Order: sequence, then C-alpha cells, then structure tokens
Amino acid sequence: MLPARLPLTLALLALLPAAMAQDAPAPPPAAAAIRVLHCGHLFDSVAGKLLGETSITVTGERISAVTPGAPTGGAKVIELGDATCLPGLIDAHTHLTGETSPTGYSDQFRWNIADYAIRSTVYARRTLLAGFTTVRNLGDSDGESIALRNAINAGIVPGPHIFTAAQAIGSTGGHADPSDGYRKDLAGDPGPTVGIINSPEDAWKAVRQHYKDGADLIKIMPSGGVLDESASVDNAQLTVPEIQAIVAAAHDYGFTVAAHAHGAEAIRRAVLGGVDSIEHGTFMNDEDMKLMVAHGTWYVPTIIAGKFVGEKAKVPGYYPPQVAKKALMVGPMIEATAGRAYRAGVKIAFGTDAAVYPHGQNAKEFEYMVQAGIPAAYAIQAATAHAAQLLKRDKDLGSVTPGKYADIVAVHGNPLADITVLQHMAFVMKAGTVYEENGAAVHVASTDAQTASVAQGAELQGY
Ligand SMILES: [Zn+2]
Repeated sequence: MLPARLPLTLALLALLPAAMAQDAPAPPPAAAAIRVLHCGHLFDSVAGKLLGETSITVTGERISAVTPGAPTGGAKVIELGDATCLPGLIDAHTHLTGETSPTGYSDQFRWNIADYAIRSTVYARRTLLAGFTTVRNLGDSDGESIALRNAINAGIVPGPHIFTAAQAIGSTGGHADPSDGYRKDLAGDPGPTVGIINSPEDAWKAVRQHYKDGADLIKIMPSGGVLDESASVDNAQLTVPEIQAIVAAAHDYGFTVAAHAHGAEAIRRAVLGGVDSIEHGTFMNDEDMKLMVAHGTWYVPTIIAGKFVGEKAKVPGYYPPQVAKKALMVGPMIEATAGRAYRAGVKIAFGTDAAVYPHGQNAKEFEYMVQAGIPAAYAIQAATAHAAQLLKRDKDLGSVTPGKYADIVAVHGNPLADITVLQHMAFVMKAGTVYEENGAAVHVASTDAQTASVAQGAELQGY
C-alpha cells in the first residue's frame, strides 16, 4: 500500500510505448468507501493520552476525520462499543521470513529460499492479526522479504506494511556472515553482493546492491550476536569508517540505517558512524546512553527476544552449545538495560526481533517494557508515533490523524491501566481494510476482487 517503489514504477511507466498506454486507459475514479469507526476511547499517540468516545471517519485507505462523540450522518458505522482504539501498532524489528525452531540450524542446509518465502506469508498474517499493521524487517536470507512486501502491497497475501532491509550487512565471520559455523568447503567467502564487507569501498557496493535489489532501508551488524555460531556476542565487528561509509551510501538512496549492537564499543562506533537506531543494546553503558541522547539515536530494546533465548538456552539441544552460552548471558540483562536507557532519556522505539520467538506474540514486549519501568503510555507511543518517526514515515503512519493511513486497532479494556490487554486484539484495520473483528479473523479476498470491491464502495468484509 505504501509507495516504497514509486520512483521506479513511474520510471517504468515512462518507458511504455504510447500505443500500449492507450490500450490500457486508467479506470475512472471511483467513489471511495466511507466508514465510521465508533470507539469507546481513543489513544492519542502524539500526546500519550487516552481520549473518550471518538468517531473516526475512513475514506478508502485513509483517515478523513476524527471527531469526539458518536457518529453523525449516513455513512456505514463499525460499532466498537466500549473498546479502546489505537493507531495500528508498529514493530520496528522483525524477521518475517523465519521462525525459531530446534531444527533451524540444520534446516538451512535442506530448505530453499522458496520454503522460507512460503512460510513468511503465514507469519505476516499472524503479525497483522496481532495488531501490528507495520513492521521493519531487519534481515532475511536472500531478499525473500522483498517478495513478501511486494505480494502484500499487491493485495495477494494479507500482512502488515513492510519496510525491509533485506540481507543484513556485516563483516567476514561476523553476525551477518551467512556461512558462520559451516565447514570450510561449504562456507566459501561471501562478499558485498550478499552483504559481507571488509572496507568502506565494500560498504558502498553492498548498499548500492541493496538499492538495486529493492530494499527500503539498511541493517548492519557492528557487533557479535547471540544466534550465530561464532565466539562472541558483543565484540566490535565494523570500524567507524566502514559504518560512516554505509550511512553515507544509505543517505544517497534515502535509506535509514538500523544497527544490531550488543556490546558497548560497538554501540559507540555505530552512534558515531551516524546510524538511526541501536537494536538490542544489551551491554549499553552510561557513555553510550549519553552519546545516543546527544546524537538523537533511537533505541529498540527487543526484550522479548532476550528473555526467549535465555529460557530456550536451558533446554538441552535447542541451540548449539556456543549459542546457548551467549543466550544465557544476554537473556537476564536486556530488560534492565531498557529501563536504564529510558531513565537516561534515550528515545525508545518498539521492536521485538520476532522470529527469535514465535510470530504473533509481539505485544508481550509491552508487558516487559512496563516491567522495566517504562510507563505504559510511553511504551504504546514507542510502537506508534515513535516507530513512525524512526521509519521517517510519520506523515503516513503512527497516529489516528486525518490524512494518514487508516491503520487502526482496538482492544477491550484500558491499556494504560493493564498493558496486557494489547495481547488480545478485538479489531484490526489496515489501510481501510478490516482484517479482524470481534477478536476473529475476517476473510479478505485477494487482488482483483478486493480492488474492485474497494472501487465500488462495496462491503469489504465477509466474502
Ligand atoms: Zn534481529
């Protein structure tokens, strides 16, 4: 739905011969469907406050009005009773093309990219039905998240708006190296075309390759990680000049840069290099936090992932021994780091590292954020207004405001009093299409049928 690839599309249209363009006249502008959502309450994600009874008018894909009180006029009303409406939630750290499994390390030698791609359609739907209408996808195997994004945008499969980094960029033997842990004759020597760089020159090549492949942003790995089979979870794996080169190249293409970093030195280098966000940040020290405040760098804590790996590391054989050892270090620390960062004034955006734990449980992160000492209203802002700013998409996403996408969810109860109510979605609308109502999934027909239905202003649900 979001025109992430619009410039290219327009460029291709310009190449069409005139005769061909005449053969395919644009359809006449159709009257957009108008519906009014009647909410018992609305969370104002800009002010961080709960409002009373509110009516939200949706025209086609966008919000056209937000007014206090009950609906007036003749438009179709979607009655949500006493439910609390919120902007569609945003998870700024997912991996929709994989999911945790005790056989995950050996599956990669048997599964093809198509296997991951097919499964990703299920994870995308599950994520949407959990109330997450937008995600940043921070790393895949071979660009399959680009195909997933395109299929969702075309209305072929249901899922959230996806902004994808495709393959992560890192150094040889580091957290992004796809051949870590392989025997030598299988490992080869991956290079910049698959995201492995060892100089600023390689960095430019890798970012430009991502642009060519159709990525929306860049993900880098300046530190070791938990789930790769190398020795360290927190060592520094990129130099400041390499990170600066990535950021400079990314800015040429309008990309933001997300940095996976557990260790304090890696965080310092990433912030100095100019990245937009630090992911995980487990061993972040006070100096890092001061630096992040000074640079305006976002922090995406992913507490749920830390807790999940810490628990699974106690199950014999779930992870390779080296991974289990690292998971046991990170697991108990990450929640406390999130609380310290909040108190130090670091800006926090919501993200979970979905795939490290099963997709669809994303909202459990809110509970952990509140446990860490982050106020409930701030935690919800982190998943709405803040995450939209991090994406640099706050003109379209992140609040229930006229002009933005009609990405609206609803829950029973008051999430500011009990944050766990966000784990039970009652209603999910993305870009004006209802995907969940009364806590149950709504069947949405795909592609042409859906488009035709919207164009004619017909009922969107239940066929
Ligand atoms: Zn991740």
